[in-house]
Amino acid sequence: GEYSHRVSIRGGDELSQLAGEFNQLTDRLQTTEEVRRRFVSDASHELKTPLASIRLLTDSILQTEEMDMPTVKDFVSDIGEEAGRLTRISEKLLTLTRMDSAAPLERVPVNVRDVLEKVRHMLTPLAEESRITVETELAEDCVVLATEDDLYQIAFNLMENAVKYNVPGGRVVVSLRGMGDLVLLTVEDTGVGIPEADLPKIFDRFYRVDKARSRAAGGTGLGLSIVRDTARQHGGAVTVCRREPEGTRFEVAFPRYEPKGGEER
Ligand code: ADP
Repeated sequence: GEYSHRVSIRGGDELSQLAGEFNQLTDRLQTTEEVRRRFVSDASHELKTPLASIRLLTDSILQTEEMDMPTVKDFVSDIGEEAGRLTRISEKLLTLTRMDSAAPLERVPVNVRDVLEKVRHMLTPLAEESRITVETELAEDCVVLATEDDLYQIAFNLMENAVKYNVPGGRVVVSLRGMGDLVLLTVEDTGVGIPEADLPKIFDRFYRVDKARSRAAGGTGLGLSIVRDTARQHGGAVTVCRREPEGTRFEVAFPRYEPKGGEER
């Protein structure tokens, strides 16, 4: 690889300790480089799939001598769907690269309840389509130092998944509460659930448990990796577990923001 320089010095002195640290650093750079390569290759693969479909669909239209209008419309509508998928993937890729950049974040105190109300409102049409009820139990005094966009993104991805991977007539319960110096957001659903073996992998970029289902739901496999990375940027952590007897439960914990008398405005 590019970072293959290693120093080998034996003995228990300071120099060999230094060599050890140098080698560790080299290993870390190598891993970062591998992660980056992997990401680029996964991303290209994800972009190629819809592009290949678009190619196929246009070829069929162009090469079929006399295609009736309804069939043409069918094909064109499929092309539009694939184009939509490309848009969603590229938007999410942009979100992820923006996060990687070193641009400093303008953190402000945000009332999480207000953000959750907005997300709930945005998801109402999607939930109604499948007769899914979204219940909320939201405490008022949960303030987090973050950006509103980031909190919106986290809540939207989790709540949208809870609706998308649900069953007709299912339920989603969103709760927000303070616990000591933490703010806890939980999103539970009565949906299809995630097999135990997949739980550790679902936060990986592009990982999807059921590719077909995710595709049909317009998924990219990037939503949860954005949730995890964004939460971490604000000192938060996300956990997931299976919900009994069915469904999934996600929990995000953030450090609670408490203005201290004189120190802060
Ligand atoms: P996608 O764009 O595919 O939804 P995500 O990163 O948001 O990507 O989620 C990764 C995968 O985890 C999904 O494809 C789906 O298989 C699974 N998943 C996420 N949320 C849920 C949920 N609430 N219930 C069941 N499966 C889920």
